[in-house]
Amino acid sequence: MRFTTRAIHGGFPKDPQSKAVTFPIYQTSTFSQEHPGEPVEFMGRALSYARTENPTRTALEASLAELEEARYGLAYPTGLAAVTCVMNTLNAGDHVIACSDLYGGCYRMFTKVYSRHGIEFSFVDATDLTTLASAFRENTRLVWLESPSNPLLNVTDLAAASAIARERGATSIVDNTFATPYLQRPLELGADVVLHSTTKYINGHADVVGGALLTNSDELYQRLKFVQNACGLVPAPQDCFLINRGLRTLALRMERHCDNAEKVAEFLSQHDKVERVYYPGLATHCGHGIAKKQMKRFGAMLSFDLKADVEKSKRFAASLKYFTLAESLGAIQSLICHPPTMTHASVEPDVRKSVGISDGLIRISVGLEDPEDLIEDLGEALSAL
Ligand SMILES: *Cc1c(COP(=O)(O)O)cnc(C)c1O
Repeated sequence: MRFTTRAIHGGFPKDPQSKAVTFPIYQTSTFSQEHPGEPVEFMGRALSYARTENPTRTALEASLAELEEARYGLAYPTGLAAVTCVMNTLNAGDHVIACSDLYGGCYRMFTKVYSRHGIEFSFVDATDLTTLASAFRENTRLVWLESPSNPLLNVTDLAAASAIARERGATSIVDNTFATPYLQRPLELGADVVLHSTTKYINGHADVVGGALLTNSDELYQRLKFVQNACGLVPAPQDCFLINRGLRTLALRMERHCDNAEKVAEFLSQHDKVERVYYPGLATHCGHGIAKKQMKRFGAMLSFDLKADVEKSKRFAASLKYFTLAESLGAIQSLICHPPTMTHASVEPDVRKSVGISDGLIRISVGLEDPEDLIEDLGEALSAL
């Protein structure tokens, strides 16, 4: 089965009991047992209490696993809840290597929450494999990768980075939110775990928040599944239903997202009011070669610096017709944000500077509108600068 078909027919598209063509919402907190301690088996899972198992969640987890071609999938109420689950498998005294250009919320959780719990972090430029390799310590347990990264679209060689982690006995995890499994499959490249904020492209319609973890490892799955239940990191069935509906069209949406983003990137990179465009699909981008090797296409996230001061750049971000000024990404509608005051406000200014995030940086998530409208809109706002 090819990806587009798998997204539609994979997992449990039908409810095995009612044969409903769209998997239903099991809105219940618990399940009755005929004999004490012998819960009913359904879809291969023992149904006792909805924190532990819920069929709507099981259906979503099976679909997510299909998309990444993983043996196991786990669904979470948010992307950060999936991150929490991973961090809760570690012990005080463990060391984590994370890429320096990563999602602001992950950086905040690592530095403000888990460092208080005795976990040590090193943030390194993972695009430089020598730097990555030299960051390992005796107690390094986890290597946290994100590619393309947020907000600068830096590209890490995931096969090489995962191999370095494996050689040193550490687990590698890739935040694959920007690329989606349609464009990039880190497990095939050797990563141990894949993470998604399903809030973004996988759901795709800006109407729910969610997260996911995928793995082929029995041992990692058992540990993560234990923490998911023990810490109550579970999504509600309504949200599972929406994400399971959204992901059916992932392939179609991603093709159009990429078509539109390529056109927008080309337009911006040739505009005389634009200083620099960060998009891995441009031959001038430093990660273009590796992106070409490990991704099917280049995604629909891009950032740019204007030839304007910070205040003008911020006004520009608020002046577009079809690009809504909002955090988040991966929705049908185009979104625009100013990372230094929005998604990356929790990253200290000197850290932002050191990783190359300028104070005027603009990030866009190119949606599914007509690309001509998007380009006209950007062109008008740029002329008004
Ligand atoms: C949004 C996002 C997250 C966090 O997910 P939430 O669903 O907002 O909790 C993690 N990583 C990346 C790359 C993201 O874009």
